[in-house]
Amino acid sequence: MKIFVFLGPAGSGKGTQAQYLKNQYGFYHLSTGDMLREEVSSESELGLKVKSVMKSGNLVTDEIILNIIEKNIASLVNDKDCVGIVFDGFPRTSAQAVNFDSMLSKLGLAVDHTFLFDLSLESSLDRIAGRRIDSRNNDVYHVKSKPAPDAVRPYLIHRDDDQPDKITYRYKLYQEQTQPLVDFYKDRLITINCELSINEIHSQFDKQIQSFEQKV
Ligand code: AMP
Repeated sequence: MKIFVFLGPAGSGKGTQAQYLKNQYGFYHLSTGDMLREEVSSESELGLKVKSVMKSGNLVTDEIILNIIEKNIASLVNDKDCVGIVFDGFPRTSAQAVNFDSMLSKLGLAVDHTFLFDLSLESSLDRIAGRRIDSRNNDVYHVKSKPAPDAVRPYLIHRDDDQPDKITYRYKLYQEQTQPLVDFYKDRLITINCELSINEIHSQFDKQIQSFEQKV
């Protein structure tokens, strides 16, 4: 069971590459953002609590996030069909990272690799302006670089927090709260060149996965 963490600002391609690892290699894609959005759309107690925080682009409290992870992780690691888990958008603060480590170590696990999707604010703004999400399954499209097929179009949404002012704010929070984790994970960090095409990054992941397999 491999544990991967994807770090990077909005629009850096974390979700797209996590979906690739899911479809190609059988990883489980755990996105705290997607989980929270599901809570919001089902209008659960938790959803109602986090709705306005998410809309404003702020971070949900560490306590809420760690609870979500704790509730889900045990069943995932016991699933024999799951080769690994990609944590997309978690951890996002030092407190989350420290608590995550102790949660994993109780299960006899540790973060194997952290992938840094490095992207400038300018590129983040550029990419997010065109991002559209399939509301049924969270598949990610882009009006220019990855247009959705006609059959998917009626289901596409443009997220409230994907507006330019919110992106700039989320980028600032990313720099303040999440970027320090680069140092926390420096002994197992792999940097992804986000300027490459989606398919070129898929190939980088193929090479990485092969090299991990050779080391087993
Ligand atoms: P994302 O889809 O990863 O961009 O997340 C969307 C929003 O969900 C964020 O702007 C936060 O409000 C919330 N969120 C997702 N993951 C976390 C996390 N690990 N810690 C705090 N808030 C989070």
